[in-house]
Amino acid sequence: MKSVIIIGGGFGGLTTGALLAREGLHVTVLEKNSEIGGGLQSFTRRGVHFETGMHILGGLSEGGSVRRIFKYLGIMDKLRIERCDLNCMDEVTYMRTGDNYRLPQGREAFTDALCRYFPAESEGIRRYLQACYDLTEEVDIFYMRPTPSVFTTHSDRFMQPADEFIADFICDPRLRDLLAYMNPMYGGVAGHTPAYIHALINVLYISGQYHFIGRSQHMAELLADVIRQHGGQVITGLPVTAIHVEDKQVVDVETSDGRKYSGDYYISSVHTKALLALLGEGVLPRAYVNRLNDAPVTYSAFILYIVFKPESFPYINHTGYIQDDYGQIWSHAEYDNSDWPRGLMYLTPPTEQQGPWAQRMTINCIMSWDEVRQWEGTHVGHRGDDYEAWKQEQAERIIAKLEQRFPDIRQCIDSYYTASPLTIRDYYGSPEGALYGYSKDGLDPARTLIAPVTRVRNLLLSGQCVNLHGICGVPLTAINTAECIFGLNTIVNKINAYCDKQHVAST
Ligand SMILES: Cc1cc2nc3c(=O)[nH]c(=O)nc-3n(C[C@H](O)[C@H](O)[C@H](O)COP(=O)(O)OP(=O)(O)OC[C@H]3O[C@@H](n4cnc5c(N)ncnc54)[C@H](O)[C@@H]3O)c2cc1C
Repeated sequence: MKSVIIIGGGFGGLTTGALLAREGLHVTVLEKNSEIGGGLQSFTRRGVHFETGMHILGGLSEGGSVRRIFKYLGIMDKLRIERCDLNCMDEVTYMRTGDNYRLPQGREAFTDALCRYFPAESEGIRRYLQACYDLTEEVDIFYMRPTPSVFTTHSDRFMQPADEFIADFICDPRLRDLLAYMNPMYGGVAGHTPAYIHALINVLYISGQYHFIGRSQHMAELLADVIRQHGGQVITGLPVTAIHVEDKQVVDVETSDGRKYSGDYYISSVHTKALLALLGEGVLPRAYVNRLNDAPVTYSAFILYIVFKPESFPYINHTGYIQDDYGQIWSHAEYDNSDWPRGLMYLTPPTEQQGPWAQRMTINCIMSWDEVRQWEGTHVGHRGDDYEAWKQEQAERIIAKLEQRFPDIRQCIDSYYTASPLTIRDYYGSPEGALYGYSKDGLDPARTLIAPVTRVRNLLLSGQCVNLHGICGVPLTAINTAECIFGLNTIVNKINAYCDKQHVAST
């Protein structure tokens, strides 16, 4: 039995580990935090659960790629998720004008809604959506299709900056802005973020949007169970402090307690900048190291977690986006502190016994690392009174913004908690609290192109820094990483064969 050591027990490390365990490898996952999950971690205040990261899910509808992967791993039926309102998965509000758009799930319904809001742009809207779907067709694994070759070519539109891509089809500047409303889900930057990322994320959610019921962490626990059921182990509270390499091979990894773990393969599912620090100098080519160290990361966020008084605020089964005005969506992280936050995203995640009233609300506001730079040398729980006062000030600013949309919300609040870019950095080990790994650049794609293989023969990479982030990107990368061991398309073919057999058996 070959063995693999995985560094990082986030969604990437656990999904890669579960796939490899199912293939018969002995898997050991080493996680620095006391809890597994990374961006899937939950925390509890006054008996109310909150998600630290992932909330909005896609790829889980019938035939969806994530659904197929989870079926293969045997966790799909155990996953506690709820589909968002079919007629309104996302509500986008512009405060200055009062414009409010309610956008349904499903390609046809989504298209029709946009055409109703902007009838003069109907033709452009249809062409734009067709172009989005065409871009996703260029990514075989998005549809769980075997990849003909590791070397793929793409259309010119694939790397075109997403804002320019939209503008090629749409004339009305308000509609251009609206079509980019999911920007906070991928950290889009004008003139840089490639159209394929915009298309993948939009198509993913248009095809079906879901929320966790209860705690997001249960998904991490289900994945860890798969590893354990196949004889593997998931060890928490054990940071990897060094990776020892001899003759272009990892010989072992060292943990904070001085122990060493060795295996046939090693997979890093931590941010690649953190991996470089663990490897030390001279292991990987200098040009590669410099490129990854210098590459820009995505923006971060300040998060407000609200506990509502009982039966005070209605449950909302969709995601809400509030923008001050049109024209700001592509420059989220470039704001003047005096007008922060210019926008926010809110959700009232469902509980196990969800009724008509919301128990909690999570509000994400894009924030630049510069806001917290003065405390960058501090750690969780020891940042000082000035930091606590600053956090409270930001929370009040967010509540004031929410009041513009929900005038009575302040009276509904029982208590609230906050997380800043520093929290995200310290819990996940993500540089500058980056939400989604590297910021991809269509004008310079090679800068953030990271293959799952490295120059160290038995060291592979997984997680959100390789390819795409999130509920869909991370498991698809896990397949790529596992296939570096078992061969191109082996895992995709097995997943498809398994799911097709199950489908036949059930009909
Ligand atoms: C606030 C926020 C909101 C988000 N919302 C969504 C959403 O709604 N939908 C969506 O699809 N995606 C969302 N994402 C993105 C999604 O959460 C991530 O893409 C995904 O969780 C990344 O998984 P990962 O395993 O690559 O990285 P991580 O989850 O960061 O996992 C890395 C793990 O490695 C561990 N680690 C780090 N260093 C070491 C070390 N030296 N030794 C051992 N362990 C180590 C960390 O503790 C962590 O557990 C969100 C992210 C954030 C931060």
